[in-house]
Amino acid sequence: MPPPDPNSRYDYHSRASTHVKAGREQLKADDRFGSIHACLHARLAIEALAYDLFQDYLFEVSAEAMAGWTPKDVLNELLYIDSEACSPISVTIGFQSEDGYRQEIDLGGNPRMRVAWARKMHNALGSFLHQPTVRQTMREPDADLLGRARQKVEEVFEELERVLASPLWSFRAHRLVTFKCKCDYSVSRDTDFLLAGKRVSCSNCGRLYGYQFDEERKRFEFRAQLASWACPDCRTMHAIDAYEVKPETFVECSGCSQKFEFSTKTVLTRVISAESDSNDTP
Ligand SMILES: [Zn+2]
Ligand SMILES: [Zn+2]
Repeated sequence: MPPPDPNSRYDYHSRASTHVKAGREQLKADDRFGSIHACLHARLAIEALAYDLFQDYLFEVSAEAMAGWTPKDVLNELLYIDSEACSPISVTIGFQSEDGYRQEIDLGGNPRMRVAWARKMHNALGSFLHQPTVRQTMREPDADLLGRARQKVEEVFEELERVLASPLWSFRAHRLVTFKCKCDYSVSRDTDFLLAGKRVSCSNCGRLYGYQFDEERKRFEFRAQLASWACPDCRTMHAIDAYEVKPETFVECSGCSQKFEFSTKTVLTRVISAESDSNDTP
C-alpha cells in the first residue's frame, strides 16, 4: 500500500454535517419510521467523525487499526496513540514584539467527540435498526419504541451539532519522531508516546519496533524486533526479524547449512483450575 498523502484529506467532517442535517429532516418528515431513518444518519455521522479524527494520526496507527472500521476500534486506537485525542482543545496564539508587548489571539476551542460517548451511542442507535423481536413486541408497543428512538437520536444530534459547530477541528500540536520502516512506509510517533514506552508498529506491514533514546546522538533509534532460534542439530543461535517468523518461511543454519521451515502445530496445553489445585492439596 502506498503511504497516504497527508495533504489529501477525505472530507469526513462535511459528511458528518450532511448526515446530521438529513437526519434532522427525517425527524420533521411525515414518516412513521422517520426516527429510525434518523438513527441510521446519526450512526453514520458518528462514524464519519471517528474517521475524521483518525486521519490526523495516519502515520501513527497500527496495521490492525487501519483495517478496523468500527468507531470503537478506531477511537480506542486513537486514545492509545494520544490520550488527549478526544479531549476538548482550545488554541491561543501569542505574539511578543521586541519592546515586550504581548498579544494573544484566542482561536477558539473544539469540543471533540468523546470516545466513551461515541461507543455508547453507536450501540444504542444500532439497537433501533432491527425489527423488534417477538418478546419486545409483547413488552413495548410500537409507538413507544419509535418514541424512544426519537428521544435517543435527538440527544445524539444535539451533541454532534455542538461538536460540528466548532470552527476549529483537525488541530494537533505534536512533536513527531519519524523513521522509515523496512517496507519503506513512514512510521511516526509523538515524543510523549515514545517516552511512555508504548508499542510501535508499522501501519502498513505491522512490523514491530523496539526503540531507545541515544543520548550521544540526541535522537530515538528504532530497530525491528528480533526473534531468536537455535539450530536443533548444531545449537548455533540465530536472530532474525520477528516479522519474518511465519509459517512456510525457510531459514538456513549458518553453522551446519541445514534448512528449516517455520510451521505452526496444534498442541494440547494442560488447564490448571482452582478446583484441580485444591484436589492436589493433601
Ligand atoms: Zn512496514
Ligand atoms: Zn546447525
